[in-house]
Amino acid sequence: MSVRLFNTYSRQLEDFRPLDPAGQQVKMYTCGPTVYNHAHIGNFRAYVFEDLLQRHLEARGFVVERVMNLTDVDDKTIRGARAAGRRLADFTQVYKDAFFHDLETLRIKPASHFPAATEPRYIERMIAMIGQLEAQGIAYQAEDRSVYFRLAKFPDYGKLAHLNLDELRPSGRVNSDEYEKENIGDFALWKAWNEADGEVRWESPWGPGRPGWHIECSAMATALLGPELDIHCGGVDNIFPHHEAEIAQSECCTGRKFVRHWLHCAHLMVEGQKMSKSLGNFYTLRDLLEKGFTGREVRYALLTVNYRLPLNFTIAGLEGARAALGRIDEWVARIADCSAPVSASAELPAELAERMPAFFAALDDDLNISGAMGQLFDLIRESNSALDHGKLTPAQAAALLADWQRLDRVLAFQRESAAVPAAVAALLEQRQQARAAKDWAASDRLRDEVAALGWVVKDTKDGPKLSPAAA
Ligand code: AMP
Ligand code: ZN
Repeated sequence: MSVRLFNTYSRQLEDFRPLDPAGQQVKMYTCGPTVYNHAHIGNFRAYVFEDLLQRHLEARGFVVERVMNLTDVDDKTIRGARAAGRRLADFTQVYKDAFFHDLETLRIKPASHFPAATEPRYIERMIAMIGQLEAQGIAYQAEDRSVYFRLAKFPDYGKLAHLNLDELRPSGRVNSDEYEKENIGDFALWKAWNEADGEVRWESPWGPGRPGWHIECSAMATALLGPELDIHCGGVDNIFPHHEAEIAQSECCTGRKFVRHWLHCAHLMVEGQKMSKSLGNFYTLRDLLEKGFTGREVRYALLTVNYRLPLNFTIAGLEGARAALGRIDEWVARIADCSAPVSASAELPAELAERMPAFFAALDDDLNISGAMGQLFDLIRESNSALDHGKLTPAQAAALLADWQRLDRVLAFQRESAAVPAAVAALLEQRQQARAAKDWAASDRLRDEVAALGWVVKDTKDGPKLSPAAA
C-alpha cells in the first residue's frame, strides 16, 4: 500500500509519489521559526508533525532531504532587536540557539539544511529573483520605493487557500508580511529602507532595503532543493498569504510547478483560541520543563493527535502523556527482561504479528497517528496478557522488542536511560569472553545479537560501553 496524504491544494487524499524517477528521493521544505522570541509549543506542533511525516516516509524506504529555514529578518525581528537595543544578528542568535536546543529536547530530527535568510548567498538570490520578476513585468517599484508583486499577472493566486478572487475586492498594495485574506493585494518583495530599520539594510538595484518574508522562503527552497519540491509543510496559518506568495514568486521565476504536495497542520488551541504570541496564551517548551514535564512527554502530547485536527492544549493532556509513556516504558522493560539472547527470528503469534504492519498502514493513511497508537496499545495489552500466561517464548519476546524498535524509529518515545536488560548484559559478558579468547567471529556475532535487542556496543579503552540504539 502506498502512502496517502491530504493535499491542501487539491483538498484531496492523494497517493504520495516523489518526482525522483526512482521514486526514492524526497525533497521536503518546512517553514521554520521567525527567531524573534522563544518558539511556543504551538510552533512545535508544526515541527513535530513534520518530524512524524519525515520519519514515516523514511520507514517506508524514502530518503528525505529536508530544509527548514530560519527567518532572521522580517518586521518582527527588526522590531524586537530595536526594542532590545541590540544588533539584529546578535538578537536573533539567542533565539536560533534556543530553537536548536528545543528541537533536540523534543527529539525532532535535524533537517538536512537550516538556511538563514540573512546569509549573503540567499540575499543575493532573493535580489536576483526579484530582478527576474521585474524583467518579466511581474514586479514593479512603487512610489514608496518598495518593490511589489503584481497579482494581476498570476491568475492562480488564491488557489491554495481556495479563495475566489473575483469576490474579493483588491486593496491595492500591502507592505506588511502578514495580512488578512480580506486585504488581498500586491505584496512586498523588497521593502525600501526606512529609519525604523536602523542598520538593517542591503544594497539592491532598487536602493537600500530588505527582502519581504515570502521571497525569503522561495529563494532558500529553490536554492537548496531546486525548482520543484515534493512536499511543503507548515501550519494552516501559513497558507495565506505566505504560501500563496511563495507559489506565485517561485512559479513565475522557474516556470515549473513549485510543489506537488502541500501539507498543513491544524493549530494548537488554548480554550478555543489559537495558541499565539499575540494573544499571550502560549507556553514555551522551557515553561513546561520548569513545571517538571520532560521533552518526550511534550512530544507525546503534540504528536499523538492527528495533524489535521485542532489539538486542545491542557496540563491534564500532558499528565495523560506521562501515564501513556509510563505504560510503554513498563512494557518495553518487561519484554526486554524476558528476551532471549538470540536474533529476532522467532515468529510471533498471529494476533501480535499483525499489529506492526497495521501500525504502519495507519500512518500510510494520511499519518493517522491515533489509529497507529491504538495498534501499539493493543499490542501492549495482548503481549502483556500472553506473558502473564506464559505464552510467549524468550525468542518471541526478542522479536517483539525488535518490532518495538522499528516503531520507535518513527515515534521516538523510548525512555532515555533505559536500564540494560539482563539478556543484553549476558550477551555482553559472553562477548567479552570471546574477545579474551580472540574469537573475533563470535565477538561480531554477539555484537549483532546485542544490536538486535536494540543496543549498541562501543569498545573503548575503558572497556565496552553500551547505549540504546538511536531512534
Ligand atoms: P512563525 O514563527 O509564526 O512563522 O511560525 C512557525 C510555524 O509554526 C509555522 O509553520 C506556523 O504555521 C506554526 N504555528 C504557529 N502557531 C501555531 C499553533 N498555535 N499551532 C500550530 N502551529 C502553529
Ligand atoms: Zn516559509
